[in-house]
Amino acid sequence: MTQVIIDGKPCAAEEGETLLVVARREGIDIPAFCFEESLASYGACRMCLVEVVKGARPGITTSCTLQAADGLEVLTETPEITGLRKALIELYLAQAPRAESIKALARRYGVEKTRFARKVVKEDPLQNRCILCGLCVRVCGEIMGAGAINYIGRGQFTEINTPFYEENEACMGCGACAEVCPTGAIALEDRTDTRVMKSWSETKVPLARCAACGTFFAPVPFTRYAHEKLDPGILDALKDLCPACRSKAAARKAILLKKEGVIPPEPELQA
Ligand code: SF4
Repeated sequence: MTQVIIDGKPCAAEEGETLLVVARREGIDIPAFCFEESLASYGACRMCLVEVVKGARPGITTSCTLQAADGLEVLTETPEITGLRKALIELYLAQAPRAESIKALARRYGVEKTRFARKVVKEDPLQNRCILCGLCVRVCGEIMGAGAINYIGRGQFTEINTPFYEENEACMGCGACAEVCPTGAIALEDRTDTRVMKSWSETKVPLARCAACGTFFAPVPFTRYAHEKLDPGILDALKDLCPACRSKAAARKAILLKKEGVIPPEPELQA
């Protein structure tokens, strides 16, 4: 364990932890859009800037890439940092004018409008909410191993979508991209037996049907992926059940096993 000082408060940190993680654990709210704990930090959005007043990298730097080390001392809200954050918020308000999370941050920092030209795209599949942080692309490729989406175009015309804006069979419909998106830009909809990834060229993924109650509950390719990679030990009898029926079936199985003496009874509580 090491100790760092954040805004004058001594905080315990584990070796290799980043300053942003330590600060958030201590209840110090440093804003960040591109931070996702399942992915390596890459300091793209620049919102999590802090000022190192004592340590190896003095000056202003991103706290999501700053490793905690003994004696490190940082400030999270100096006038300079606040000024930089306000300028960034203005840029993001222009880039993604419909993103509620950015508007909320603007209110927190008293930013009422942007000096930059607002980018409003008609029928934008990402609802004028994408800040191009790239978390969706990274989680899809690096974590889910699907690589169904990527950057398209360059400079101010850069956007994210499926190759050639066509439906993409590589998409499992898992929704991980939507889950990590910091601005709620990715739209998907379950229509009876199909999940439609509205933001990803309307890619359609069939939904699996529960063998017990008949409810459509999860995309078929994703259930296969989950069974093979995440939970290879899952019992065949439970594979085709929705979570509710799976839980009921597991409880029933436990009752039977108890009755048959396979699971020993709970020990009597001592008075
Ligand atoms: S829903 Fe499709 S695009 Fe999104 S992370 Fe899953 S596989 Fe990738």
